[in-house]
Amino acid sequence: MSKKVIVIGAGIGGLTAGALLARRGYNVTIYEQAYVPGGCASTFKRRGFTFDVGATQVAGLEPGGIHHRIFEELKIDLPSVTPCDPACAVFLPGETQPINVWRDPEKWQQERQKQFPGSEPFWQLLAKLFQASWKFQGRDPVLPPRNLWDVWQLTTALRLDTLITVPFTFMTVGDALRLYGLYNDRRLKTFLDLQLKLYSQVNADETALLYAATALGVSQEPQGLYHLQGSMQILSDRLVEGLEKHGGKLFTGYYVERIETLENNKSQIIIRQRKTEKTFTKTADHIVANVPVQNLVKMIDSPSQPGLNLYQQRVEKLPEASGAFVIYLGVKDEAIPKNCPPHLQFLYDYDEVIGENNSLFVSVSKPKDGRSPEGQRTIIASSFTDTQIWNNISEEKYQQLKQEYTIEAIARLSNYFQLNSDTIIHQEAATPRTFAYYTARDKGIVGGIGQRVSTFGPFGIATRTPIKNLWLVGDSTHPGEGTAGVSYSALTAVRQIENKNFI
Ligand SMILES: Cc1cc2nc3c(=O)[nH]c(=O)nc-3n(C[C@H](O)[C@H](O)[C@H](O)COP(=O)(O)OP(=O)(O)OC[C@H]3O[C@@H](n4cnc5c(N)ncnc54)[C@H](O)[C@@H]3O)c2cc1C
Repeated sequence: MSKKVIVIGAGIGGLTAGALLARRGYNVTIYEQAYVPGGCASTFKRRGFTFDVGATQVAGLEPGGIHHRIFEELKIDLPSVTPCDPACAVFLPGETQPINVWRDPEKWQQERQKQFPGSEPFWQLLAKLFQASWKFQGRDPVLPPRNLWDVWQLTTALRLDTLITVPFTFMTVGDALRLYGLYNDRRLKTFLDLQLKLYSQVNADETALLYAATALGVSQEPQGLYHLQGSMQILSDRLVEGLEKHGGKLFTGYYVERIETLENNKSQIIIRQRKTEKTFTKTADHIVANVPVQNLVKMIDSPSQPGLNLYQQRVEKLPEASGAFVIYLGVKDEAIPKNCPPHLQFLYDYDEVIGENNSLFVSVSKPKDGRSPEGQRTIIASSFTDTQIWNNISEEKYQQLKQEYTIEAIARLSNYFQLNSDTIIHQEAATPRTFAYYTARDKGIVGGIGQRVSTFGPFGIATRTPIKNLWLVGDSTHPGEGTAGVSYSALTAVRQIENKNFI
């Protein structure tokens, strides 16, 4: 009889793990607390507009890329996509011309040489590290290793060309800038802070250099970032198709409250159906949790498990994760400047005291990309925010704060877009409270664990947990956030489950 697997959560991580396990012969059931799958990569519809909730661009769709590989294995069609070129147009404070992160590597090289004179040796180092890290990741290493099988997978992924990365394992981007005498190049540092915060949650001084090399290198050919035709939902819909094609099942509107371990190495989960409020128990050989690690530790009810205390302590000590404030605008075409790039990043000011960038990351839909009626477009702008300021306040204070953030965001966006009562057809905002409600993420944190040296690669959160047959996938685990990152973690957990009897 095929082994039974329960997946908690139908984000990209859970759907990918569930679909791959179903394809590989497991009996898979996914329980998702929301009524639509996709989590931070899902969508919602308002007045003819389709808004991507969080993720708006996707890496890993080129041949050999992680989504491409997974879709091939599942025998499902890849979504139709348009490459993002430039991947991002970055506006620094007071500047009206952007720094364009072009898709063509040569064009990007010329752009950065023009924008940041004298910095090429730094970029060349990043390019070398990216090449080596990308090849290494393509050989499916298991990081961080937790048993002999993992170590073996890691070792077989290492090649001579990986050795170049080793001396840089403990370095941050700030260290590399110092190495090249570029640390005081304020413009370069600001640009890096902005871009890195987007991918790694932290700035150049904190981001692990090897992570940065990958995050900053992935926008150029032959890799690249892509905009999905229709909406982000297509990615989840296709994965659900893959899951069901191979016999797996997805139940939406089911909240998993607790995970308990049983004596026979099996685990059981306590599930509440949201509509009826009825609870029931299900047992499985493996449980795959697609939740932030901060959620996971609160769900485990197995006090005597060895190693669990240390695991919980580590999670408690993790630096506070960020939340997001997102504004979703449905607008008339004339609100958007001609030749507007698909993604823009605006830095408004830099707070020297807290070292925080005050920025907006903006995603603009294209005509006929399936997100808006003819003559209309969507603009989605997000910024990082401290979850604490949104939680534990009265409803009245919360609404007031949300209103203040909305007004501020629209005012700032109006420097570039034509936004007024005539061009804005629909407006709506999401805060950490919204993300906590719709995705059940602890305190509404988004984007996973900051990719500092202490939490990246060998020091990251593993897909293995201290509980046998309980696995963690998603943006808390190596290699980090983004739909591509969480798909790698899903693939790792699937391979570990399959090879679990090896040692
Ligand atoms: C504003 C914003 C912009 C972003 N932009 C990009 C981008 O452009 N490109 C990109 O690649 N990434 C982007 N990201 C990051 C990306 O969306 C996430 O890293 C990724 O989608 C996370 O996937 P996941 O599967 O790990 O988790 P999630 O998406 O959080 O999925 C987890 C799922 O589990 C469900 N769940 C949780 N708890 C329970 C429970 N107890 N019982 C049952 N179900 C449960 C949730 O409802 C959810 O559906 C962005 C994120 C945000 C917030």
